[in-house]
Amino acid sequence: MNVLVTGAAGYIGSHCCKALLDAGHQVIGLDNLFRGHAQAGEILAARASDRFQLVVGDIADRVLVESLLRDRKIEGVIHFAALAYVGESVDQPGSYYRHNVGGMQVLLEAMHAVGVQRCVFSSSCATYGEPPEQLIPIPETCPQNPVSPYGRSKLIGEWMLRDLSVASARAKRPFAFAAMRYFNVAGCALDGSLGEDHTPETHLIPVVLEVALGKRPHVQIFGTDYPTPDGTCIRDYVHVEDLARAHLAALFKLDPARFDQHAWNLGTGSGFSVLQVIEAARRVTGHAIPMIHQPRRAGDPARLFSDTRRAEVELGFVPGITDLDEIVRSAWQWFRTHPQGYRSASR
Ligand code: UDP
Repeated sequence: MNVLVTGAAGYIGSHCCKALLDAGHQVIGLDNLFRGHAQAGEILAARASDRFQLVVGDIADRVLVESLLRDRKIEGVIHFAALAYVGESVDQPGSYYRHNVGGMQVLLEAMHAVGVQRCVFSSSCATYGEPPEQLIPIPETCPQNPVSPYGRSKLIGEWMLRDLSVASARAKRPFAFAAMRYFNVAGCALDGSLGEDHTPETHLIPVVLEVALGKRPHVQIFGTDYPTPDGTCIRDYVHVEDLARAHLAALFKLDPARFDQHAWNLGTGSGFSVLQVIEAARRVTGHAIPMIHQPRRAGDPARLFSDTRRAEVELGFVPGITDLDEIVRSAWQWFRTHPQGYRSASR
């Protein structure tokens, strides 16, 4: 299939491009390189130069997007390009709505104009907000009440897709979409080729590994008084390569003639606390990983993990890596060999 991947030079987007290339597809990556890495594009091009090209540009550039869709005969779009920091979204909501909502609106309009029939959308469990205790593990039917501009921007993305689906059905123009609601994505390519490189880095596993590398003196634990067994927050960590495979499965599952609308939670269904993650990192790295206790971080729910049954039944999604040590080990493999992130790769 000819696939356009937006945000192709970012963390999840690049791993998804790798999975598409390894499965033999033609991939055009689109990335404005605001937070993506040109080196990720170079690594992907080296993997399959005849089937991959990174185009540097923005999803809000209607002329560029429409010409790519038309000229490259794109059959499906996997849409990752977005800003993705919850905390930043609280401070800069305008920026999140401009990129995540405005940019996506342009992309969808271009897709509709050209007649691209499939869209797999990078959504988030942040669209659920803070679900009530009786709805954990969280099913896809859980009410979506996001508590941050980031979560709201992703929910609006889902709404735009639903509206486009209705309009497409009325116009008898085949279109299908899937909203992929991720839990906590972690780990790096098992062959060591791609990794995680965020500036600033705020996610727990990379932060903990930066302590092991000596780049930070300690890890801050945001809250030790949550109603969980050890008092720290519980999250569902899903490996990035499993997640990438789910996107391929979704792309091929979509039936535009039936105007499919899907939403799938992507997690492992198991929850691990912040302290359990730190203990896993101690085992994997052999480093003491000092920690200090801090007050709760605003907007952090105590427990978030996925009810995975729908993705398993409908998509055949069964994560291959569910062991926390294995997830942390795969991230450590990358961080250990790329202490400066992709800048290490280009040396
Ligand atoms: N966390 C922490 N210290 C850090 C980063 C994160 O204690 O330096 C906690 C955070 O409060 C949350 C969990 O680790 O409970 C996962 O946070 P992360 O930012 O990785 O993902 P989120 O669940 O916010 O998407």
